[in-house]
Amino acid sequence: ELEKRKYVKGRKLGEGTYANVYLGHSRSDPSSLVAIKKIKVQAQYNDGLAPDAVRELKHLQELRGHPNIIQLFSVFSSKDQNLNLVLEYLPLGDLEMLIKDVDHVRYGAGDIKAWMGMLTRAVWFCHENYVLHRDIKPNNLLIAADGEVKLADFGLARGFSDPGWRMTATVITRWYRPPELLFGARHYSGAVDIWSVGMVFAELIIRTAYLPGNTEVEQIGLICKRIGTPTEDNWPGVTQLSQYTVPSEITPVWGKEAFMSRFGAVGSEGVDLLVRTLALDPKRRITAREMLEHKWWKAEPKPTRKEDLPRKS
Ligand code: ADP
Repeated sequence: ELEKRKYVKGRKLGEGTYANVYLGHSRSDPSSLVAIKKIKVQAQYNDGLAPDAVRELKHLQELRGHPNIIQLFSVFSSKDQNLNLVLEYLPLGDLEMLIKDVDHVRYGAGDIKAWMGMLTRAVWFCHENYVLHRDIKPNNLLIAADGEVKLADFGLARGFSDPGWRMTATVITRWYRPPELLFGARHYSGAVDIWSVGMVFAELIIRTAYLPGNTEVEQIGLICKRIGTPTEDNWPGVTQLSQYTVPSEITPVWGKEAFMSRFGAVGSEGVDLLVRTLALDPKRRITAREMLEHKWWKAEPKPTRKEDLPRKS
């Protein structure tokens, strides 16, 4: 109650799948703007808070203080028992808006390197703290007034410190979903987020989703065709996963050279990093820590300074 009185709710900023988002400001300092995210109550969880909401909260609190993760200022419940999260206000939209606005927004390899650096540091920090984000996509990468990109929407995030826990396989928006989840793996790791990071990397380069499957079957088909067919040779144990099915025509895993023609704008080192994020076998996929040590960051061009990054027009 005391927390609620600290903020004044303003106009609606947007609507998501499980929340409405409002502009707000601090009662004591009307110039300090915040976003108030009001989580929709789900009927089946009338007795308590929806698990999604509780998870979002728990993880955001644990991850407080990283420049590339959205800041959670406060939490309160309103009279209808809805959960309200008071978040950092990020007014410059998200990466999806920039990627899609081909007519007005131009960007190059240094800009992609800066955005990818921010995303990789955010994911590294999550994993270092035993949190999986599980829904990394351009639309969940919000942009701060100073150009900093911030990972948001922790609604699906959960800790992975409990190794015996069977996790649900139906997470991550389809286009960014890794093959292990499409095949129904129940024990997965930070590698699921790395695949999504690779999909964002590819999309930043070509400015359209790289693997835009309309169904899960189509999604697997696209992975097989453009990356390679998962088999026991390139991924020991894959055929044992409960939903394993691949097209009968097997495509060998494409090498770095094959990706150069479409993704060469980030240079040979950039393509090397991209290919490592897209390893079919999650055990062979690069980790966030290894990504940060990759030679691409040191190669030319240098990452653009955040204040010089392109903005929405
Ligand atoms: P979704 O991920 O489906 O877009 P969200 O509930 O996260 O749903 O957000 C809904 C909309 O509210 C966003 O598309 C965006 O326009 C706006 N929004 C969300 N968070 C913020 C924020 N921290 N600052 C400013 N606008 C926000």
